[in-house]
Amino acid sequence: MQKILNYIGGELVEPVSGENLDNFEPATGDVYSLIADSDERDIERAVEAAKAAFPAWSATSPEARHDILMRLVGLIGRDLDSLAVAESVDNGKPVSVARSVDIPRAMANFKFYATAAMHTANESHDTVGQNAINYTLRQPLGVVGCISPWNLPLYLFTWKIAPAIAAGCTVVAKPSEVTPMTAYLLSKLCIEAGLPPGVLNIVHGRGPKVGSAIVSHKDVKAISFTGGTKTGQEIARVGAPMFKKLSLELGGKNPNIVFADCNFGEMLATTVRSSFSNQGEICLCGSRIFVERPLYARFKTEFTARVAALKVGDPNDPDTDIGAIVSKQHFDKIMTYIDLAKSEGGTILTGGSSVRVDGRCESGWFIDPTVIEGLPHNCRTNQEEIFGPVVTIMPFDNEDEVLAYANSVRYGLSATVWTENLSRAHRVAAKLESGIVWVNCWMLRDLRTPFGGVKDSGIGREGGFEALRFFTEEKNVCVKL
Ligand code: NDP
Repeated sequence: MQKILNYIGGELVEPVSGENLDNFEPATGDVYSLIADSDERDIERAVEAAKAAFPAWSATSPEARHDILMRLVGLIGRDLDSLAVAESVDNGKPVSVARSVDIPRAMANFKFYATAAMHTANESHDTVGQNAINYTLRQPLGVVGCISPWNLPLYLFTWKIAPAIAAGCTVVAKPSEVTPMTAYLLSKLCIEAGLPPGVLNIVHGRGPKVGSAIVSHKDVKAISFTGGTKTGQEIARVGAPMFKKLSLELGGKNPNIVFADCNFGEMLATTVRSSFSNQGEICLCGSRIFVERPLYARFKTEFTARVAALKVGDPNDPDTDIGAIVSKQHFDKIMTYIDLAKSEGGTILTGGSSVRVDGRCESGWFIDPTVIEGLPHNCRTNQEEIFGPVVTIMPFDNEDEVLAYANSVRYGLSATVWTENLSRAHRVAAKLESGIVWVNCWMLRDLRTPFGGVKDSGIGREGGFEALRFFTEEKNVCVKL
């Protein structure tokens, strides 16, 4: 059976423990590969390798870093199809999604930061009257830790690694133990691309063992983390007293606000996507849909019909819309929330149960896309993150009311607003408590823009120059002339 090995000091190596964890294919429920079960000893080796690589890598010109990262872009492009299949097998997402979204975005992440690193500049201040000049250097932090989740495995892993490496840092990274395969394949491509040993080290294994060893290591200067709010709290508890820089991209419970004057056709098609893409396992999916009352009945009928027509099936099948849920544990969590919604008085309009997909997937973890109505905005179903193919729909009567509903949760990652009224769009966008607002669109991404959440959705921003700033420290030099 294929083994997923650690990538430390430029080599693929077994974990010190010699132990492995099972890696499951969600569509079949079968173990299909083995994952290095690493611990703090592997992290120690990875940090040593990263420390050894830092002086030379941080002194490498941005052009040289660019050239290596662009080689990586070319290699990911060359292997796009096999990487997409690997991502789909490992995560359960339709292969069509991995091919059109995940892997192209991993290429875009490296491309964006390979070039961005060549466009940074230092500031200088002519201190007139005191005969001095100040200039501000931005220097790479040193060894940094990157920890990513299972929902968009290579996409989010590279979203952290690319700016860290481009900024001149060296990295110890951990993908989710639930979906480690494409990070492993990336390590092979890094070797082929000629990335110097130790610049990137990938250590596999469980979060509480491997992830926490990265966070608590005294020589790791910063942690860039994407995952659940509870894990983010734990990382902050350990990292903050050590004065590490922290970027925490956490959970969400995003509102999707539909005004009666919207472009109905476009709103409907996009809302199906923003609810159920990637089985609803995207931190940006809108899970609470608020519809202005005059449009509510039409929305309910047409949305429910569209959702009921989505095809749940084998992720390999090009016609599949909804693949498998990533793990048995997550499958159980989502089913528990559907039961909770019923016990809170919700009416299931479509879905609401697991699905048996015949053939090779008969033991896989599949859930019918589910639409629920009749719940108040403040019940647990509408307040807690489910992170699966489950949405609720609720009517509203005016702007103030819907803003109060939308902002009533502890999270604040993203929000979507549908209206043809320009003034209202700006007014509502300004009042929403979230880091990202989409007006008349969803997940339209420009990598230059700041990405992140407010409230319990995290601290810090990724994207654009924000990420390069995160991985560097400012130093002001004042020279008396
Ligand atoms: P988790 O928080 O469970 O895990 C995220 C990563 O942290 C994994 O690599 C995990 O390892 C690791 N980890 C777990 N415990 C620790 C620890 N004590 N110290 C350090 N690292 C640890 O999240 P999920 O993987 O379940 O991902 C889903 C969550 O991610 C959802 O809440 C979702 O909203 C959020 N998310 C947020 C995004 C954003 O941009 N804001 C984007 C995508 C997802 P392992 O898996 O091996 O246990």
